[in-house]
Amino acid sequence: MDIAARKGGRNPETVRLIAVTKTVPVEQIREASRAGARCFGENRIQEAVEKIDRLKGEDLRWHFIGHLQKNKVKFIFGRFDLIHSVDGAELAETISRKSLEHGERMPILIQVNVSGEASKFGLPPPSLESTLRAVAKLEGVQVRGLMTIPPFDPDPERSRPYFARLRELRDRCAGMGIENISLDELSMGMSSDFLVAIEEGATLVRVGTAIFGERPAPGK
Ligand SMILES: *Cc1c(COP(=O)(O)O)cnc(C)c1O
Repeated sequence: MDIAARKGGRNPETVRLIAVTKTVPVEQIREASRAGARCFGENRIQEAVEKIDRLKGEDLRWHFIGHLQKNKVKFIFGRFDLIHSVDGAELAETISRKSLEHGERMPILIQVNVSGEASKFGLPPPSLESTLRAVAKLEGVQVRGLMTIPPFDPDPERSRPYFARLRELRDRCAGMGIENISLDELSMGMSSDFLVAIEEGATLVRVGTAIFGERPAPGK
């Protein structure tokens, strides 16, 4: 990771590894923690809640990286430090309202669908500016940056243009002077392409398989 950061002209300290623990049992999470991992990512709220509550008392940080339904927002408080996957102003409003009830301000990233793939969650790039302007006004959330998931391709070089696109979108929006938001974080890159993502500016890489091995196929 350090080499990829330097190759991209970046300070390696600006890149954080999120160990993605979906389907990974708590014993293995404890092991990863003993090996030095600090920040963990989950993409399904029910599974996350169970595991996080069992691991209470350990010094772990949790990020939510999956699709979040509005009726599940109540589960994030007291558990997650950052929500990577906010894909619209409506969801941000729900999070904001509930955060204020908890006396909190929840840090979030806005998920952008840079590839335009129909099956992926995330905002289409042309809606990003208006969404940021709307979300900036919400007192219960704090925008910290952007997130994307490119179409899967075993060749990481095929992901590079999408990562570059997210960085360009970020740079453009950061230049608009929208108050009350920060766009410092770029959450991009998974097991197959996190080195390329770091070269293109990722500050958060979400890595599961490369740390914990292959997951069981869905439905097993
Ligand atoms: C599962 C998942 C990852 C990690 O994927 P790997 O290929 O196992 O590294 C990253 N981001 C999201 C949103 C995920 O759901």
